[in-house]
Amino acid sequence: MTDPDRYEVVNPATEEVITTVDLAGLAETDAAIARARAAFESWRRVAPADRARLLRAFAAAVDADREHLAALEVANAGHTVGNARWEAGNARDVIEYYAAAPERLFGRQIPVAGGIDVTFQEPLGVVGIIVPWNFPMPIAAWGFAPALAAGNTVVLKPAELTPLTALRLAELALQAGLPEGVLQVLPGRGPVVGQRFVTHPDVRKVVFTGSTRVGKEIMAGCAAQVKPVTLELGGKSANIVFADADLAKAAATAPYAVFDNAGQDCCARSRILVEESVFEDFMALLEPAVRGVRVGDPADEKTEMGPLISAAHRERVASYVTEAAFRGSAPEGPGFWYPPTVLAPVRHDDRAFTEEIFGPVVAVVPFRGEEDALRIANATDYGLSGSIWTRDVGRALRVARGVEAGNLSVNSHSSVRYSTPFGGFKQSGLGRELGPDALSAFTETKNVFISTEE
Ligand code: NAD
Repeated sequence: MTDPDRYEVVNPATEEVITTVDLAGLAETDAAIARARAAFESWRRVAPADRARLLRAFAAAVDADREHLAALEVANAGHTVGNARWEAGNARDVIEYYAAAPERLFGRQIPVAGGIDVTFQEPLGVVGIIVPWNFPMPIAAWGFAPALAAGNTVVLKPAELTPLTALRLAELALQAGLPEGVLQVLPGRGPVVGQRFVTHPDVRKVVFTGSTRVGKEIMAGCAAQVKPVTLELGGKSANIVFADADLAKAAATAPYAVFDNAGQDCCARSRILVEESVFEDFMALLEPAVRGVRVGDPADEKTEMGPLISAAHRERVASYVTEAAFRGSAPEGPGFWYPPTVLAPVRHDDRAFTEEIFGPVVAVVPFRGEEDALRIANATDYGLSGSIWTRDVGRALRVARGVEAGNLSVNSHSSVRYSTPFGGFKQSGLGRELGPDALSAFTETKNVFISTEE
């Protein structure tokens, strides 16, 4: 960091400064909110088909810029190029999916006596979106795409560490023809720009993705104005492997379910629960899978895991590890590298088993039967995602219904599809993003009764 208004953006794989970004202060934030407020009056009146056309043009612009966006994320966040391409494609898909929404934002006609009763889904106004550093593109798009489709305008604050792709997305929106002021990106500090989204009366909704600690502060702050919030917070998800599962597949895929994006994934399955009778067999299969994870230069197409985001974060991750059962590899030299690490045995009250590490560290514990698996899986304040491995379909459904989490997958590790709802139980969040219902988080229902009496 040079002076208070500028931020040096660092490549986490090389520790080199890529560029310097100006950070917005309070006055600039207020000016941006005023522009967004002014733009709202006309944006909400753009005919649904025209708003849809503009969003489709925006999606096409993102698609055409996909390689460039991916290269920015490789350099800024150390994401593997394969992941970064997927992330840019996901942003495109989310914008395209919600481009269909303006023309399908139906109200209802409800039978009542003496007239006609109809509902309208009205936009809220200016929506403030606060984004973390771990998936800068998808998380930004999950917020702004449905918000814009519903007729809101958006001010978006990327994380201090990773502003580059969000800034580019805002440029692409303008190029695609979205009017000035409809989508603005403001790099800045959380307690300055992010906090202003919470306190400014013209910001009518806050979407926050980040740590549970800051999420609680945002929610408390929004209470002062009864301002709606969507919160996507931390996780400590369980990957539950039953003895009847395809053990080879469960073990081969388990590393990628937690070490993808170097473990900096709110959905990381960072606790593996293995049925006692196959525990040793599973560990014997897991070890070569972990050692086989290719860690290195994120720009190399073959790389499967890059560096952590910063030196400070690596220190935090390392503080959880005293003794590893086994580890994968990591490059030497510059870059915030940390090897894939497996902890076992580990006590259930060890902070490595209870707290979100947000790095490539996984803890493996045995369990005895379904009830025990659910007890361990649910013994956490979090509830974001999880996986269940079994060949018994009844058990798969029983356990899926029993796990207190918002996004579960059976015999796989998927969490995110733009067409299905995403969000957390308990302290992993509030509300749902993505899927067919996301627009309801960006609209208020208005009921209008029209008398037909003479
Ligand atoms: P963080 O909470 O430190 O920061 C997130 C964002 O909030 C950043 O833009 C930051 O500048 C801003 N911020 C910080 N303090 C603020 C304040 N007082 N007021 C307003 N804004 C403030 O989190 P992080 O370290 O950037 O991200 C990692 C966390 O995000 C992890 O806990 C992870 O699980 C979570 N996450 C959750 C999801 C999900 O969908 N549930 C997705 C990705 C990440």
